[in-house]
Amino acid sequence: MYLNHFEYYAPRTAGEAFELVGRLGDQAKVLAGGTDLMLILKEKLIKPQYLIDINGVKEFQGIAYAAGKGAVIGAATKISEVEHSAIIRDKYFALYQAAGELGSVQVRAMATIGGNSCHASPAAETPTPLVTLRARVVIKSAAGERQLPLEDFILGNRKTVLGVGEILTGFILPEPAPRSASRYAYIGLRNAMEIDAVNMAVNLVLEDDGRTIKDLRLVMGSVAPRPLISAEVPAILVGQEFGSELVGKAAAAAAGEARPISDIRASAEYRREMVAVLARRLLQEAFDAAREV
Ligand SMILES: Cc1cc2nc3c(=O)[nH]c(=O)nc-3n(C[C@H](O)[C@H](O)[C@H](O)COP(=O)(O)OP(=O)(O)OC[C@H]3O[C@@H](n4cnc5c(N)ncnc54)[C@H](O)[C@@H]3O)c2cc1C
Repeated sequence: MYLNHFEYYAPRTAGEAFELVGRLGDQAKVLAGGTDLMLILKEKLIKPQYLIDINGVKEFQGIAYAAGKGAVIGAATKISEVEHSAIIRDKYFALYQAAGELGSVQVRAMATIGGNSCHASPAAETPTPLVTLRARVVIKSAAGERQLPLEDFILGNRKTVLGVGEILTGFILPEPAPRSASRYAYIGLRNAMEIDAVNMAVNLVLEDDGRTIKDLRLVMGSVAPRPLISAEVPAILVGQEFGSELVGKAAAAAAGEARPISDIRASAEYRREMVAVLARRLLQEAFDAAREV
């Protein structure tokens, strides 16, 4: 499979990158790890005239953390760096878990966290925990900057709000609340590089008594065109003491909210069932972990 002809640019600074995407307009594509883009180019689904490789731009890379404020993750940060970051493991465990599940060692060494959200596959690994952790995206262009919650950035299958001339430069994660914990898990059909049939992340905050749920976010992936934030699970559990009966009710509610399709990976019925299984499991795991913080 031959690639179409394109011109390749490798900016070294953010300013150069913004100038290029602005000037080359809709004929240009940003190239990060290339683990999604190169497949699409080979299949000739798109035929950009220009590729702008952002891997040399330091401003788009790395993980910075300030106690009490939170973390900033550059969009061009490799998944392998997220997977091996002590800050992500200690503060944002659901994201740490998801990064470790994405593809293979080789894919994680190439793929970036920004590319995972920009590609906007409904089955993507990292948007689910990022939305759960209330991540905001930073979008920049030669004209300026805007920020928005990640759930408003992803519009649907392979659709985002990114406009011509804009680059996703990073994610801002708030400092985790005291007595909180997050957890992630997915279900696939085989124990290899499978695409998720369902994935889910939970972030749970406890009151001082260590039993009552103060705040909760449960997000489902691969059961809707974009990450699906449960409205019913927090409505059932927040303000209540954690208990298996209520958790069972919440898990059933999450399954009811899911809007899965049937495809080669799983039937809609199976996905719904697995939403309930993952919800029960992750709520319990996050509760147990939050009690230990
Ligand atoms: C074998 C294999 C296994 C995989 N397994 C998984 C898996 O288990 N889970 C999973 O979620 N994904 C998986 N993927 C998909 C892919 O690796 C991820 O989606 C990855 O995070 C994409 O990042 P990238 O840096 O390679 O993006 P690229 O391929 O470089 O770009 C993807 C898209 O996003 C745009 N883009 C990238 N960065 C930016 C930016 N900063 N600003 C604006 N636009 C940008 C590009 O123009 C392109 O349209 C797999 C891929 C392969 C090949």
